Amino acid sequence: MDFVNDVIAWKRDGNELDAVRLRAFVDGVVSGAVPSYQASALLMAMVLRGLSDTETVELARAMVDSGKTLDLRVLRRPVLDKHSSGGVGDKVTLVLAPLVAACGGVFGKMSGRGLGHTGGTLDKLESIPGFRVQLPQGEFVRQLERIGVAVVSQSERVVPADRLLYALRDVTATVECDGLIAASIMAKKVASGTSALVLDIKVGRGGFMADLQHARDLGRLCRLVGEAYERPTSCVYTGMDAPLGRTIGNRLEVEEAWAVLQGEGPADVREVSLTLAGALLALSDVGVDETEGRRRAEAAIADGRAADQFERWCYVQGGRWKPGEFHRLAAHEVRASRGGYVRGVDALAVGQAAQVAGAGRQRIDDTVDPAAGVVLQHAVGDRVDEGEPLAAVFSRDPARRAQASRILETVFDVGEEPPVATPIVIAREDAAG
Ligand code: URA
Repeated sequence: MDFVNDVIAWKRDGNELDAVRLRAFVDGVVSGAVPSYQASALLMAMVLRGLSDTETVELARAMVDSGKTLDLRVLRRPVLDKHSSGGVGDKVTLVLAPLVAACGGVFGKMSGRGLGHTGGTLDKLESIPGFRVQLPQGEFVRQLERIGVAVVSQSERVVPADRLLYALRDVTATVECDGLIAASIMAKKVASGTSALVLDIKVGRGGFMADLQHARDLGRLCRLVGEAYERPTSCVYTGMDAPLGRTIGNRLEVEEAWAVLQGEGPADVREVSLTLAGALLALSDVGVDETEGRRRAEAAIADGRAADQFERWCYVQGGRWKPGEFHRLAAHEVRASRGGYVRGVDALAVGQAAQVAGAGRQRIDDTVDPAAGVVLQHAVGDRVDEGEPLAAVFSRDPARRAQASRILETVFDVGEEPPVATPIVIAREDAAG
């Protein structure tokens, strides 16, 4: 295709791609007219040259139009969603979805099945026996009307361009381009019918973005696409040097989310959940600002409405939720080799240990073990004695358990001095700002 060759050369030489060229590229990828070697070459030119604001928005538009779009206006209420850039131990959706619904908002999420250190939200939900994530569209809408919360798997017909492009990016070292990432994230949200969105952008070694400035650049691009579609988008930047909470692994994370919904559980998971709930409720039609939204979310946890809503949600989506009732796998404990303060817990390595234990997938067709994972007995700032248990790894397979334990032995940084405390919520930008 000579035209595509010209488009590649145009971008390679540092010129801006217009909507027509971007659309031809995206449509050609979906129809098969653009072969993968040409698509890869253009993706690499995009990574090396970067995408302008206009290119990012136009690419997102072309991607949205590459497949089916959902119109949730039948609900006559804003449908709220949250997207996390991905972190270790991130179970916030499990808390946030019922919490927002308990406060009168409508939380609807269509989630893809990603690769990762641990499973995605769908894997976590499927660790509850019977929980159905594949709902027909009509059932998704009716459930939102009825109980104000639904989380389902995304139809393959929504943004097919993203599936094809992401598969190429994954194997051609072309994931790392802010414009490509923003277009990919936002196209899926727009096409899924989201009315307003909060992005939880993780900053730190265990997240996608190592530093705050880079995270803000990505947030700005996502908000730009949101504005182009009149989908207000707020950004919350949260720390991801250490894992979020104490559990990493699908069912283990559901148990922890349940604890948070009951007013217990780790403070960092609670703080991120309440911050996001406040931000989302401020974008809803409930008529509150962020401060009042957060206050209502705190009240819904304190008086049990949030936990009730979680149970109702599981029941309606077919899940038989019985807290604490799951098959417990054999564990191996890792102990402190010296006494002192926990100065750091390497999120990435903990994620890798959980994946080795069976909690995450390396390839898209791998199966995950719902009960596998890691429980951290200590977090950053804790004082520990020599020989004290630091973490436990749960796996069905003794060889995997041993391999995961070897990784876990390296993740705790224990030293003499207590670490400087850092807040879990680092920065935020609301939709209007
Ligand atoms: N997540 C997405 O959905 N898309 C990307 O390109 C990167 C992360």
